[in-house]
Amino acid sequence: QHRVRVEALAAQMALSAAEVKHLQVMRVRPGDTVQVFDGRGAAGEAELTHLDPFAATLRLLSRTETSSEYPQPVTLAIALLKGDKLSDVVRAGTELGVAHFQLLQTRYADVPDIGDNKLTRLRRIAEEAAKQSQRSVVPEIASPVPLAQFRSEGQLFYAHPGSPARLLDHLTWLSPLTLISGPEGGFSPEDLGWLGHAGAVPVTLGPRILRAETAPLALLGALAASGV
Ligand code: SAM
Repeated sequence: QHRVRVEALAAQMALSAAEVKHLQVMRVRPGDTVQVFDGRGAAGEAELTHLDPFAATLRLLSRTETSSEYPQPVTLAIALLKGDKLSDVVRAGTELGVAHFQLLQTRYADVPDIGDNKLTRLRRIAEEAAKQSQRSVVPEIASPVPLAQFRSEGQLFYAHPGSPARLLDHLTWLSPLTLISGPEGGFSPEDLGWLGHAGAVPVTLGPRILRAETAPLALLGALAASGV
């Protein structure tokens, strides 16, 4: 069944131009049923009641009670990476249940900053991946901040080679969770000092050194494989 994003779940819903085009390309016809979601956690089923080249209207049939979200929001804070690596992390991270992405500027980051165009592209990738993985939440992607200015709520962990602690031994689902993953060059002594000061717990991803785009997915893979 096709999934379309709506502004808010309501008895009658109009669609954005992008979603109208999506329905046309997918050859959805009036009378067909589609899944709807608002990107903030609400989802349901709706009947397409009208479709023309410029507009579409849906009638809400039911709301979905089950949630595909973790019991607490998961933030992935990731150092800036070169090329298209962030796109891959955002796509897979969205499938793996991230609620917020925070881009981080760290001392040894591959690139100092990213432009607005790239940020817009990452947000589009998150929206497409949320649809594809049947999530009702579209993760936010926050503009880069220096690691020392990053503030988080709840439990804070960072992946660091050689750490004795294991993520799943320490996390609980009683408060929000933030996972930090470093750049290809690793964390600098200043970064590590700040992470210690913020009370972040260093965790291992095993005895192999993972690339900067693989490590965040290993952190998230541990959560996914725990079956929550
Ligand atoms: N020479 C760097 C160092 O010692 O930190 C290697 C950095 S690694 C290529 C990039 C990032 O992935 C690291 O900053 C860390 O966050 C994460 N990472 C990679 N392998 C890891 C492992 N085995 N355990 C924990 N974190 C790991």
